[in-house]
Amino acid sequence: MAGGFSSQILDEIRSRVDIVEIVGQSVNLKRAGEHWKGLCPFHSEKTPSFTVNPKRGIFHCFGCGVGGDAFGFLMRQDRLGFPEAVRTLAQRSGVELPTQRTPEVEGKLEGLRRVMTLAAQFYTEALWTKDGAKARVYVESRGVDLEVARRFGLGYAPEGWNALLTHMAKEGVTDGELVAAGLALPRQNAAGFYDRFRGRLLFPIRDLQGRVVAFGGRAPCPGLPRRARAPARSRECSAPRRGAPGGQGHPRRGGGCPGHGLRGGRRP
Ligand SMILES: [Zn+2]
Repeated sequence: MAGGFSSQILDEIRSRVDIVEIVGQSVNLKRAGEHWKGLCPFHSEKTPSFTVNPKRGIFHCFGCGVGGDAFGFLMRQDRLGFPEAVRTLAQRSGVELPTQRTPEVEGKLEGLRRVMTLAAQFYTEALWTKDGAKARVYVESRGVDLEVARRFGLGYAPEGWNALLTHMAKEGVTDGELVAAGLALPRQNAAGFYDRFRGRLLFPIRDLQGRVVAFGGRAPCPGLPRRARAPARSRECSAPRRGAPGGQGHPRRGGGCPGHGLRGGRRP
């Protein structure tokens, strides 16, 4: 069991993916007999010493010595961990990975995903309301085109203490579910809860399947009353802690954000 995957599953995926196609997405390959050749993406060179052997499903560079299979290529090229590389290629090749989750955990995850989807819709729509005007001005002041903000699903957490809580209650989401999702916090000196993000520009953080799994909050939008600003840190993230339902630690930043120059965008 490598990385929790059986060798049969890994062989199945390897046999179904075309390594020439995988490598060919980032390397210009030319046929050379049984092999394919190109300029190595892992070191700088002018004559091709990087080869792909489709029969054996491997690549090798005679210049820098790196080599491996399709998983190894994706890990190097896209900086993926082994499990992510396996999942990516499994999805591409239509191999179903056995689920290692109990129905109970799966149910909790499903609930969490629904909460995240609804919250993302709420925040995204709020950015384009009258109330979100300040946030839009802020976005543009950071040199980000509004069309880009729309495309990346940037959102806005309205001012006040319970805009999200009130909205989500109408959708049948409980306060407890919002707390579990990292979007609400218990009041310190009274009963009840309050919205974690207030008066902030938000960017969605997505998993490899493109689902919103957390939100990152940028600095409070300037011009907002001080009481509406979230306390302490100017940047925070709603990702559930490790061990929480669905908490895989800090997820990859998939949506891009203005403060990060829109790095980490997904491939089309
Ligand atoms: Zn090389």
